[in-house]
Amino acid sequence: MPSPYRCPNCKTNRSRFNLIEQVPTSVKMDSQTGEVIEQYTQDNLDVLHVPYRGPAYKVQCGVCGLVEDEQMFIKHGEQR
Ligand SMILES: [Zn+2]
Repeated sequence: MPSPYRCPNCKTNRSRFNLIEQVPTSVKMDSQTGEVIEQYTQDNLDVLHVPYRGPAYKVQCGVCGLVEDEQMFIKHGEQR
C-alpha cells in the first residue's frame, strides 16, 4: 500500500521525489591495491560474505536534494 511522503528537511515537499534503486554488486578486492578480484552474484556469495540487507531504494527530495531512507519520508508524511 502506498504511503504519503514528506521531506523531513524542507518539510514542504510532498510530491516531488527521486526514487533511487539500490542495486548492490558484491565484490572481493585485493586488500593492497583495491583491485576487484572476484564479482559475485547473490547466489554464489561465499559463506563469509554478508549479502546486502539495506533498503531496496533510497529517496531524494526533489526540492532540497536530501537523500534518506524511505521510512524517514513516510514518518514525516504521516504528520499532517
Ligand atoms: Zn526537501
